[in-house]
Amino acid sequence: MLSVHIADSHVSLRRAPRPLPKPGYALIRLLVGGICNTDIELLRGYYGFAGRPGHEFVGVVEAPADSKWLGKTVVGEINLGCGKCERCAAGLERHCARRTVLGIVKHPGAFAEYLTLPERNLYAVPRGVPIEHAVFTEPIAAACEILDQVKIAQGAEVAVLGDGKLGLLCAQVLQAHGASVQLYGRHAEKLRIAAGTGCATSLGERGLPARAYDTVVEATGSAAGFASAIRMTRPRGTIVAKSTVHGNVEVDMARVIVDEITVVGSRCGRFAPALQLLRSGKLRLDGMISAEYPLSEAEAAFAKAQERGVIKVLLRP
Ligand SMILES: [Zn+2]
Ligand SMILES: [Zn+2]
Repeated sequence: MLSVHIADSHVSLRRAPRPLPKPGYALIRLLVGGICNTDIELLRGYYGFAGRPGHEFVGVVEAPADSKWLGKTVVGEINLGCGKCERCAAGLERHCARRTVLGIVKHPGAFAEYLTLPERNLYAVPRGVPIEHAVFTEPIAAACEILDQVKIAQGAEVAVLGDGKLGLLCAQVLQAHGASVQLYGRHAEKLRIAAGTGCATSLGERGLPARAYDTVVEATGSAAGFASAIRMTRPRGTIVAKSTVHGNVEVDMARVIVDEITVVGSRCGRFAPALQLLRSGKLRLDGMISAEYPLSEAEAAFAKAQERGVIKVLLRP
């Protein structure tokens, strides 16, 4: 089968044997995959990664023959817990110390004609949800994680900083939840997507309001975004840190302490609420798909995904 490979900041194609699923695992034929910022970071060498990337996918289960998932269109949780530790027992495979992660840590990713995942990681794509929307399940789940971590009341004013893929999804998810979202970004055309779901938007970095929000979601992907988030948060407010910023970030701890600001790190989330939201039709995802490429043109797809202004790039076998 065709398989995408990343090593030494280079994308290449390989012929690989079709994987044999271990007991408890399903063999999944890829229908569509999405390139995420994490994939770009793997390519740039932040994690010393070499292997097959891809963790946003929709596929069809083709084996084992006795699987209850056989023939079903599925998405899958990307964290594979050990299944034996305390965190796994608490349903927190996402925090299992021995976990592997699809396409990121020691489990071959989804950018190939076939992949494998434990059957317990799978979720059926709800009827009526197109696969081009379902491929957003994983990043939508990451946005939904905010609601598992922080109480946000109906009508509460929330600032989201950053109009990249994750910022746009965080804004849409929180707006759909009933918050009153103000999205701050740099691209008029991206802000327009969030505006379509009722979010208020602000273009540019000038005049960010000081001490204005009880909840600020930082999704700029930059260290400067975190400093802005601190300035914008009210005393006793909460900053949800969604950007994975590499290296050390300078933080004005005096503001954090004196104003008693809570900083919540936030990463992957549960798939169930994400699929429920997808079924609700409240999200605007079509405008977030910038381009599609066949797997055989993965190198071009990765190049496209790194262009300025590009949002989501999809891969199809
Ligand atoms: Zn991702
Ligand atoms: Zn575990």
